[in-house]
Amino acid sequence: MRLTLVQGDITQQRADAVVNAANSSLMGGGGVDGAIHRRGGPEILEECRKLRAGQYSKGLPTGQAVATTAGRLPARWVIHTVGPVYSASEDRSELLASCYRESLRVADTLGAASVAFPAISTGIYGWPMDDAARIAVEAVRAADTLVEDVRFVLFDAAAYAVFEARL
Ligand code: ADP
Repeated sequence: MRLTLVQGDITQQRADAVVNAANSSLMGGGGVDGAIHRRGGPEILEECRKLRAGQYSKGLPTGQAVATTAGRLPARWVIHTVGPVYSASEDRSELLASCYRESLRVADTLGAASVAFPAISTGIYGWPMDDAARIAVEAVRAADTLVEDVRFVLFDAAAYAVFEARL
């Protein structure tokens, strides 16, 4: 597996699958989620609604992942995963690692060879970047997956530098 870093916008990534830092409602939100739905168009939300009407009537649980079309994004699929909200008093790192593992597992079921990840939980969900980067890199490196190309897409130079140091 090749692990690479880019600084940029996840909605512009050409990859088989891009990962969305979703919330459990699957109905959209801010940050990465808002950008993906805005740029990807209504088809993605349409499929999310169907998931909510079916298997995920109670929402997508934290740490799990599910795929939809990527709509107008330059990717084939969006893999939605729900990161944990950071807690200073409770160790939720296993749930964050699970987001990366489960996303790669879903990518395998799709036959996706390249997957682009944002820094899950480091925005609205408040996870400190350095700790999130450590968990992300460890989880991806340890994953048992056929995905050949994993890209971490960091929105700003500071986040890029933190991931670079961890790699
Ligand atoms: P969460 O709710 O899991 O914390 P956010 O979407 O709020 O997710 O933020 C996750 C990370 O993604 C943050 O570091 C944020 O700066 C970054 N981010 C926000 N928009 C984009 C984007 N369009 N492309 C890549 N990263 C983004």
